[in-house]
Amino acid sequence: MQLTHPIFKILSGIAAEKGLEIYVIGGYVRDLILRRPSKDIDIVVLGSGIELAETAAKQLGDLTVSVFKNFGTAMFRYKGVEIEFVGARKESYHLDSRKPIVEEGTIDDDQKRRDFTINALAISLNQENYGTLVDPFGGLQDLEDGILKTPLDPIITFSDDPLRMMRAVRFASQLNFTIEPVTFESIIANRDRLKIVSKERIMDEFNKIMASPKPSVGLKLLEQSGLLRVFFPELSALKGVEHVDGIGHKDNFYHTLTVVDSVSRVSDNLWLRWAALLHDIAKPVTKKFIPGQGWTFYGHNHVGERMVGRLFNRLKLPQNEKMKYVQKLVGLHMRPIVLSEDIVTDSAVRRLLFDAGDDIDDLMTLAEADITSKNEEKVRRFLANFQIVRQKLKEVEEKDAIRNFQPPISGEEIMETFQLPPCKAIGDIKNAIKEAILDGIIGNNPTEAREYMFQVATELGIQKEGE
Ligand code: ATP
Repeated sequence: MQLTHPIFKILSGIAAEKGLEIYVIGGYVRDLILRRPSKDIDIVVLGSGIELAETAAKQLGDLTVSVFKNFGTAMFRYKGVEIEFVGARKESYHLDSRKPIVEEGTIDDDQKRRDFTINALAISLNQENYGTLVDPFGGLQDLEDGILKTPLDPIITFSDDPLRMMRAVRFASQLNFTIEPVTFESIIANRDRLKIVSKERIMDEFNKIMASPKPSVGLKLLEQSGLLRVFFPELSALKGVEHVDGIGHKDNFYHTLTVVDSVSRVSDNLWLRWAALLHDIAKPVTKKFIPGQGWTFYGHNHVGERMVGRLFNRLKLPQNEKMKYVQKLVGLHMRPIVLSEDIVTDSAVRRLLFDAGDDIDDLMTLAEADITSKNEEKVRRFLANFQIVRQKLKEVEEKDAIRNFQPPISGEEIMETFQLPPCKAIGDIKNAIKEAILDGIIGNNPTEAREYMFQVATELGIQKEGE
């Protein structure tokens, strides 16, 4: 095995000098074999990981070591890579606790406590067999076959740490691997144990699924295993088709997955992917069958917008501008479509630009991805209209600069001109100017806005001071 990073030779020297057994293990070995870019390096030593880290750091010229006493691990950065050290351990768990009883163990014990055979591979750094793969569970074969399998009986592996079920799905989605059937059955059997895992840990894995090349791979597995229902029932609820009088609606779960994959093909933005995931989240709660009209989901965009806040809170996702961005896109996701169905007027385009601001391009990406009809003629027509909308957006923005709209006349200027104290009329005048710009009655510039301000003031019975 080709080990290029200089740390490996250094550790090998320490192993010989101190009579230690040292291995590189886990994700680094997996990614090396898969020729994926590797991130951090995990080192296992029979003995103390902290002592080894300190010895190595000293040899390398006194690097700063971060020590995590409670976990028995230590870490330093060397030549751009984080290197983590841990003593080989044996773990056993009680059924009602996530806290393992940890004892020192052999390399084999350490490999057994890993989540999957492909993550349990180790490479020796010891001089007698430097570079040799230590593979007690057939991990190399599983890597070649694209299989995720636990090293021990999956019931034990998953019940020890139920997060591993999420990790199985995450790796399947990231690497496009298959979860071996017995392992998958065991996820189904153990899924309710995910409840004891913190939302933060679950969401770390979920976001890695969302960031994977084709998130639907993982999302489908979450649904099929029943894991999704445990932590994200609102998303599961999108699944299924109801019929009344022989009329069905589309399956909104699979539609959502198509939209998520589509935006993922053109953007790495995790939060745009989230907006795609949640754009129809309120369809189940707004669904109604109206005779003569069929299935309706009135207001699902606005109800969805409100659901985003609650969901982000419960799932311990960021409560900041990222959440606001997702809310905004969910709320606006139908606007470009509605616009493109009609004659595309400048004022409708100006209003869309005003409401979407800098997120207009992402909104257009989402709205375009949302067109998943099986009717090819319909899709062609929509996409052609979208081209017109995009063109108009460009023209209107060049002309009127609405994207980052700043009122051309400030409240202070209105107060000064008419010698008014702060009052409702100021807001009314400002608003009337904004509306006139969006409607194309006046241009977005101070000269026309001033003129219009006097006109509105007269209509409101306000006179310029001294007149
Ligand atoms: P990535 O770096 O892409 O997030 P990874 O597997 O390379 O994934 P970590 O999640 O940091 O990186 O895990 C490093 C190694 O530690 C894994 O390869 C695996 O051997 C082990 N591991 C991590 N989490 C668990 C877990 N919950 N149960 C068992 N082993 C684990």
